[in-house]
Amino acid sequence: MQDKLCIKSMHPAALVSLMEELGQPAYRAQQVFRWLSMGVSSFDEMTNLSKALRAELAGRCFITVPSIARRQVSAHDGTVKYLFELGDGSCIETVLMKYEHGYSICLSTQAGCKMGCVFCASYEKGATRNLTPAEIYDQILWAQKDRGVRVSNIVLMGTGEPLDNYDNVLTFLRIVSHPQGLNIGMRHISLSTCGLVPKIDELAQLRLQLTLSVSLHAPTNAIRDKLMPVNKSYPLEKLMPACRRYFELTGRRISFEYAMIRGVNDTPQCAAALVRLLGGMQCHVNLIPLNHVDGSPLKPSTREDLRAFQNALIRKGITTTVRRSLGGDIDASCGQLRRKAAAQKEDDQ
Ligand code: SAH
Repeated sequence: MQDKLCIKSMHPAALVSLMEELGQPAYRAQQVFRWLSMGVSSFDEMTNLSKALRAELAGRCFITVPSIARRQVSAHDGTVKYLFELGDGSCIETVLMKYEHGYSICLSTQAGCKMGCVFCASYEKGATRNLTPAEIYDQILWAQKDRGVRVSNIVLMGTGEPLDNYDNVLTFLRIVSHPQGLNIGMRHISLSTCGLVPKIDELAQLRLQLTLSVSLHAPTNAIRDKLMPVNKSYPLEKLMPACRRYFELTGRRISFEYAMIRGVNDTPQCAAALVRLLGGMQCHVNLIPLNHVDGSPLKPSTREDLRAFQNALIRKGITTTVRRSLGGDIDASCGQLRRKAAAQKEDDQ
């Protein structure tokens, strides 16, 4: 398969070039793109193409087809968590959530993650690979087919660091937002990063209208260094100016993610330090009650501490919300299902 082209990873403009090469008119590219966005598994399903063209495409290209290795449906709120198995046997997680305004999906961008945040279940030494644009896209296509629904919002907050897989994520964004594809506008997409400064600057240059979420989790380098190894390379004095530049260039408010960890980053002193750090910035703070990860000594903040922290920020004029927790009964948070499946595989052997 390696020498064939992954056709679902191709942006429509690249498909037009491919069709030109094959001596086909440009509108064939649109037809193929539409079929791929409907989640077909083979070229034979593209019934408005001639048999000869289908055979030619099958000779040069392949279509990725993931399989659903596991599916867990929350009895509380209908959240569905998928474990997809990819062509090479790697497994990735995807979460489909139902909100009042429609379906939102949380996508993985890498199989594993090398960032090493201490509170996160996705970190696995050495076991990382970038997902292709097709593999990111497939998570939506297959969840939609499985449930018979249409997704209207995307968050790149599953396993992986999206800006560490920059080119593929960008191609995916252009594919998923294309009017002839799923047509999900950038304003309905959030991209979450642990703070890779040069890539934040690169993204800002594109002036996309997506929401950039920055995983902050601490108001000082002393605390952030302990939680997120990335802070050694890009400490707050580099990260915060990059966030300000991002807002200046795109006009989009940054959303700061802040996982509330008992006794670590949730004190009144931390709230005051965070107010100082964000002073005068157009932003939004999203407090996340820490999801417990098996084997971790870190605990979520108490409800009272969380409210007090939120109020301290709001009093200083910082828009602060608390993330609603969905799918608590199905290990819906990052990396947990994948970890369990991997552990069970080991037990089975
Ligand atoms: N690598 C990206 C996106 C994936 S993680 C990033 O770091 O932003 C998505 C979000 O979930 C991040 O804000 C991450 O810090 C947070 N997160 C990871 N593990 C968590 C946990 N156990 N509890 C609460 N939030 C967690």
